[in-house]
Amino acid sequence: DTPLDVVDPEIHAAIGAELARQRSTLEMIASENFAPQAVMTAQGSVLTNKYAEGYPGRRYYGGCEHVDVVERLAVDRVKALFGAEAANVQPHSGAQANAAAMSALLEPGDTILGLDLAHGGHLTHGMRINFSGRLYNVVAYHVRESDHLVDMDEVERLAREHRPRLIIAGWSAYPRHLDFAAFRRIADEVGAYLMVDMAHFAGLVAAGLHPSPVPHAHVVTTTTHKTLGGPRGGVILSTEDLAKKINSSVFPGQQGGPLEHVIAAKAVAFKIAAEEEFRERQRRTLEGARILADRLLAPDAVAAGVKVLTGGTDVHLVLVDLRDSELDGKQAEDRLHAAGITVNRNAVPFDPRPPMVTSGLRIGTPALATRGFGAADFTEVADVIVGALTPGADLDHLRGRVEALAGKHPLYGAIEHSLHGEAR
Ligand code: PLP
Repeated sequence: DTPLDVVDPEIHAAIGAELARQRSTLEMIASENFAPQAVMTAQGSVLTNKYAEGYPGRRYYGGCEHVDVVERLAVDRVKALFGAEAANVQPHSGAQANAAAMSALLEPGDTILGLDLAHGGHLTHGMRINFSGRLYNVVAYHVRESDHLVDMDEVERLAREHRPRLIIAGWSAYPRHLDFAAFRRIADEVGAYLMVDMAHFAGLVAAGLHPSPVPHAHVVTTTTHKTLGGPRGGVILSTEDLAKKINSSVFPGQQGGPLEHVIAAKAVAFKIAAEEEFRERQRRTLEGARILADRLLAPDAVAAGVKVLTGGTDVHLVLVDLRDSELDGKQAEDRLHAAGITVNRNAVPFDPRPPMVTSGLRIGTPALATRGFGAADFTEVADVIVGALTPGADLDHLRGRVEALAGKHPLYGAIEHSLHGEAR
């Protein structure tokens, strides 16, 4: 029972430094969040010791009576949260959820139709050197150059031309709602399955603040750690008739023993996501993104060549277009970093700059909303961001404003005792 700081001072120090970083900076990476302590307690539990290949009631190992309780709770809660007929909570990550769902529905060489990575899609939606691009014949749809919205006419045309076995709707960088019903109509017309990857907006769906893909899609995949605010992991939702195929695709198809400690943490996160407090947090997430988009559309930002893709947002993130700015994505990311705000640079569609530089930023509000930020705080953050992106930025002064905001919303107040060993 020797505590971590004694067993491994180097790892202990790195965790402590990361805690300090999370506390003192403003986290605005759109795919990140802060898992509640209850979620981390479940994840850091003795469940990590247990092998449980199989599914509740049908395991290949003895002693699974308690992990069966855990996994059944996770499955029942996520089904209720999203109104799904069936759920698999074992995928270790979003990428593995997609790999398993796709291998359940497809044979190698089948055609898939997904959003181009450079236009906001994810690696697993058909990127060339990802498993999805290597195993399947990929056709990509795009956003329109005129308004940066997904071109449903192109989706329809490509679907008719290539007759994919699977159409994937979902994104990693897109600020608007997708028309799931239109995707399903096209999928039905060409005899394709529709898979929606709601990894980014699952928390908004759970809160009833974003249209749900569940009534429209054959399969819905998600991560559990983005807007949903749980542990890092994946989930596959499906109709009942596909459940058996998907289960055997996850195990034994893709994975061995499930991470029951993570599944327990997922169950806790699903419980939290069904509560009114979570809905209120997701409302602040959306409000913060709207405040940020509006501030980035103000004359001083426009004069600095800053643009907002699609002119605003319906979700938890804003895509900043710097093609007309003196700053490229890398420089903008570095300036915000110097001010204490963490974001990621992101290629914009039709980006003239190389992928390591880019002409855009993806800025998200979920983590700050979890930290307790409200409208006044987001107004201040938005002003700091515009300050950092406009000429003559005084980054030291901006850093002071960031520190004041971070100090106003403390993070993980009671975590020290678990890091320094309760035994002593
Ligand atoms: N799907 C989408 C839309 C994502 O944005 C991501 C993460 O970036 C993933 C899947 C993959 O999730 P993970 O990083 O857990 O593999």
